[in-house]
Amino acid sequence: MIRINDRSKCCGCSACADSCPHGAIRMQADGMGFKYPVVDEDKCVDCGICEKICAFHPVQKEETPKCEAIRFPDLLSASQSGGLGFAIMRKAILEGYVVYGAAIADDLSVRHIRVTDEDGLAPLRLSKYVQSDMTGIPAKVLEDLEAGSKVLFTGTPCQCAGVASIAGKYRNRLLLADIICHGVPSPAVWKSYLEEKSKGRKLTGALFRDPALGWHDHRETLIFEDGKEVSDEYTFLFYRHLMLRPSCHICPFASLSRPSDITMADFWGVEKDIPGFSDDNLGCSLLLTHTEAGAAFCREFPDECVRTTAPIPTDKQPNLYAPSKPGKHAESFENVYIRRGYSAAARRFGRQSLPVRMERFIKKVKRHI
Ligand SMILES: Cc1cc2nc3c(=O)[nH]c(=O)nc-3n(C[C@H](O)[C@H](O)[C@H](O)COP(=O)(O)OP(=O)(O)OC[C@H]3O[C@@H](n4cnc5c(N)ncnc54)[C@H](O)[C@@H]3O)c2cc1C
Repeated sequence: MIRINDRSKCCGCSACADSCPHGAIRMQADGMGFKYPVVDEDKCVDCGICEKICAFHPVQKEETPKCEAIRFPDLLSASQSGGLGFAIMRKAILEGYVVYGAAIADDLSVRHIRVTDEDGLAPLRLSKYVQSDMTGIPAKVLEDLEAGSKVLFTGTPCQCAGVASIAGKYRNRLLLADIICHGVPSPAVWKSYLEEKSKGRKLTGALFRDPALGWHDHRETLIFEDGKEVSDEYTFLFYRHLMLRPSCHICPFASLSRPSDITMADFWGVEKDIPGFSDDNLGCSLLLTHTEAGAAFCREFPDECVRTTAPIPTDKQPNLYAPSKPGKHAESFENVYIRRGYSAAARRFGRQSLPVRMERFIKKVKRHI
């Protein structure tokens, strides 16, 4: 029987809950909005399936992935990096796959959804810097595979690992495309942040990094009925590692050995590494192919693209080699957030807090010495 005594040991992929033949496991959110399995001991027969299905452990792979820089000129304006994510999903739809990916819902929460036509892909585009809810998704993927469909699943490497594990003998009809992942932020903090910002105003949308502001811009854009507001208040908490899921700090997939066929990411540093390839600040994707199936799928795309082989990045992609470390104040941030709410936590640890303003001031002074 699965028991989560240490929160860092569970990534919340939901595979254990969906694999239980007795329906004895449900996913329940903690104070940060991260979901964990909870077992109903009256229903559980201790068959051990949930423990066997858990895939939150390192993958052994010998081969080094093939690395390319790739960009799709027509897709850049609505994509996070070079458009690779959408190009893969669109190609899959055209080839008859069922596609799964992280979508932003009307209430601006983020969850995985199932898509079967090209129009349905729109909400899957762009990065959502918050953990996406996977409740019930591994079971749906399995249902599609059992029905004979080909499935493309896109998500974090831990979500891909969970889906691969539940797919079992159908793995050859399942294509997995993960992202290089810095760690997933708290759904509860995201919700509280939106509530705080939208007091008295109607919020109609949000972008975690608006492509219109340039590829190198790292701020969130909130779209209100009466206009847009760009801020880095939420992004700051994300990049300071104050609200990442505890399991992200021991992620076994922050490595070149991954559970997926394909990895997509931003090709940071492309301007220096491959001069002239992508110097316009509109975005460039990094493509890693880990398996023959991944390489075959990515050999050609229906969307026009430019691509070139490249060395696997080292210093610009730390999460290809190690998980993100917890921020110095991560534990305190969580305590204050849960006891006193978002505003108190943001006031004490956020962008505008006194220690952060002092830090900025000292840096500025040092630059002028
Ligand atoms: C939490 C998070 C951390 C990231 N960390 C890094 C990093 O450290 N380095 C780096 O180079 N890139 C990172 N990325 C990936 C990067 O931001 C882009 O998502 C990626 O390059 C794909 O962009 P695109 O233009 O090819 O595709 P797009 O068309 O923008 O497609 C987005 C794809 O990402 C998936 N996705 C979006 N949000 C989520 C989510 N919350 N959970 C699971 N899947 C999601 C969608 O299912 C879709 O397939 C991260 C993304 C997320 C969501």
